[in-house]
Amino acid sequence: MKPISKENLLTILIVVALVLGALVGQFLLHDPSATKEKMEQAVQPWKVAGDLVLIRPLMLIIIPLIFTSVLTGVTSIGDPKKLGVLGGATLIFYVVTMVFAVTTGVTLAWLFNPGGAATSLAATQVADAAATLPSAPPGGLGAAWLQILYLLVPNNFFSAAANNETLSIITATIALGIAITVIGTKARPFVVVVESLHEILMTLVRWILWLLPIGVFFLVAWAVGRMGLKELFDSLKWYVLVVFAGLAIHMFGTLPLVLWALTKINPFKYLWSMKPALLMAFGSASSLATMPVTITTSVTKGGCSRRASGLVLPLGATVNMDGTALYQGVAVIFLFQAFGIELHFTQYLVIVLTATLAAVGAAGVPGGSIATTLIVIAAVNTTLAATPGVPVLPLSAIGIILGVDRILDMCRTTVNVWGDSVGARIITRIAPDDPDPAKEAAYA
Ligand code: ASP
Repeated sequence: MKPISKENLLTILIVVALVLGALVGQFLLHDPSATKEKMEQAVQPWKVAGDLVLIRPLMLIIIPLIFTSVLTGVTSIGDPKKLGVLGGATLIFYVVTMVFAVTTGVTLAWLFNPGGAATSLAATQVADAAATLPSAPPGGLGAAWLQILYLLVPNNFFSAAANNETLSIITATIALGIAITVIGTKARPFVVVVESLHEILMTLVRWILWLLPIGVFFLVAWAVGRMGLKELFDSLKWYVLVVFAGLAIHMFGTLPLVLWALTKINPFKYLWSMKPALLMAFGSASSLATMPVTITTSVTKGGCSRRASGLVLPLGATVNMDGTALYQGVAVIFLFQAFGIELHFTQYLVIVLTATLAAVGAAGVPGGSIATTLIVIAAVNTTLAATPGVPVLPLSAIGIILGVDRILDMCRTTVNVWGDSVGARIITRIAPDDPDPAKEAAYA
């Protein structure tokens, strides 16, 4: 028998941890007779364990890693013009695939009308829901734009770093990188230090990878234990199924097709090679925490160039969220349907546009899109309010879907990370690594 490779062993361990976690959550932790609050309290230690083992160590690395990987990416490309082409191509890819994703979600929600069957549920649960409304007050579409602009133009590097404002760190680092390439040899000592720090951080990431199975086990047990699998397929089953179907179409249909069309590589082989990152995304529900794993895997297993991954993946983990965009589209339409509020073409269009924008603004952390989903609802409400007598959706309605959110979050995060990985593979065509190993080592 062939010995199991290290990589396969890790994958097997993660899958075993996922299954074990779900079984423990469902059969040992979940108590259908307990109240929601009691249940939350009972399973909280499992989440704490998962956070301590996996999420916190990874989050600790995120900001320095974004800094070193974007900086080495920019300085290795050198030419600002080439950087512009690469950045432009990356952003176009992100926006187009997010629009594809949300259009898939909106079309499915419109076709299958998942909220149609849930009207009674909405009426009884809305009061309950009000209590669980997330605190971030939505300021509408204008505020969403402004927030993104502020993030793009930070005024304090350290406060951005302290607040995990990754977009700000990326723009500041790109500016620094361009200045470095203009200065040339004089800036070389600094680049050498950053490259060395990058290697150190990647070594830490490789160690943390082995904590993945343990962390995933705790987090999945917590996610399943707090709500039980039955609730998923109870009153919200059509909503859950439409989200699952949309995510599956985007993950196994749209994105592979785009990848194949632009690179001619076998998309499913690539998907398979990215499994540590995808499983991590599923287990952690955080594309940001997964980013270090995505970077390592895409380069070592997925055939991506270092410079493409170094630039595209930090940006992707921050702005590119196909799964989130799709989910927001379905969630918002579901809620309007559940409340019996009719939507027309204008509202569907508003949903596609705002869900894309809101997904860009959503943080790559668990539940990062809950507050941004409110922006989409508010935008639709604004268009509805223009017609006198038309009811609008109370924002508190979102509480109805929060109970099942974690499991959906795990799935949409997997699609988010897959979308980023596809981007890195495509951009590798524009920015391949140098075939000369000596030159390559200069920014390895
Ligand atoms: N958890 C998602 C992510 O990290 C964001 C979200 O949709 O809530 O990618």
